Amino acid sequence: MDKVYIIGHTSPDTDSVVAAISYAEFKNKIENTNIYIPVVAGEINKATEFIFNKFNIEKPEILNTLENKNVILVDHNEAAQSLTGIESAKIIEILDHHKLDFKYSEPIYVNIKPWGSSATIVAELFLSNNLNISKSTAGLILSAILDDTVITKSPTCTKTDKDMIKKLSEIAEINDWENFGMEIFKAKSGVSKMRDIEVIKSDFKDFDFMAGKFGVGQVETVDLNEFSNRLDSLLIEMEKIKKENNYHSVLLFVTDIIKGGSKILVASREAEKIAEAFNIKLKDNKAYINGLMSRKKQVVPVLTEKFNN
Ligand code: MG
Ligand code: MG
Ligand code: MG
Repeated sequence: MDKVYIIGHTSPDTDSVVAAISYAEFKNKIENTNIYIPVVAGEINKATEFIFNKFNIEKPEILNTLENKNVILVDHNEAAQSLTGIESAKIIEILDHHKLDFKYSEPIYVNIKPWGSSATIVAELFLSNNLNISKSTAGLILSAILDDTVITKSPTCTKTDKDMIKKLSEIAEINDWENFGMEIFKAKSGVSKMRDIEVIKSDFKDFDFMAGKFGVGQVETVDLNEFSNRLDSLLIEMEKIKKENNYHSVLLFVTDIIKGGSKILVASREAEKIAEAFNIKLKDNKAYINGLMSRKKQVVPVLTEKFNN
């Protein structure tokens, strides 16, 4: 059989990269082959780079298009979040932990579980098939779970994720996983050197709603103050992105993982409606929402309800 590329979403986060690497390893092992190749849909972020250095992992190749390729999608299933060329790709399988928003002309394997990370699903596959997880793969998967669940603080974190964190930190020989999680988020924090556009786009997803196209970015920080003097310039950049790409709305959530809440920035044709949806008052297109940590669980459903009906 021809090569099969395993790939996560654009603006790759750690989970989308790690799920691709570990799932390729699983598939090659279980099928005793080497046709599965992990690739990424863009440059990896700072946290992923930190993790790769720590476990001595090489960066996967960056793919530019999915055109006419055999692919397995991990950590996403919406076409709006896939690399270009998805229309002509042969999709073999999906492994994901997001809501299903996928149409295809053939029956395929779909493995979606409401767990904290895609990597948790891969780890469970290794274990349930009695396959060994190497120290470095355990370290990678552990990192992805800690990152996606915000060190278990996100409402997306399940008991399965917590159990897996315990098992994997033993294999990876990481005694203090909470401290290791903080290191991952600190590696992400160096935003002071990033340009506004890079901050907004570092973890940015598109959603096609009836009302129009939404772009929703999220940055996590261990200290919101790191952003306090650049919120307005971020908003100006978001306005620009909105106009140039014909978005209905561009939103940015700056999540303080210590406080457990997010600053929302709004560039929108209907900012009032967004305020209503979240039950907040915007001041200069900004507000702080206590308890908001998860785009998937606390943002997308709210927007879907308001703008996709
Ligand atoms: Mg992801
Ligand atoms: Mg994920
Ligand atoms: Mg995330």
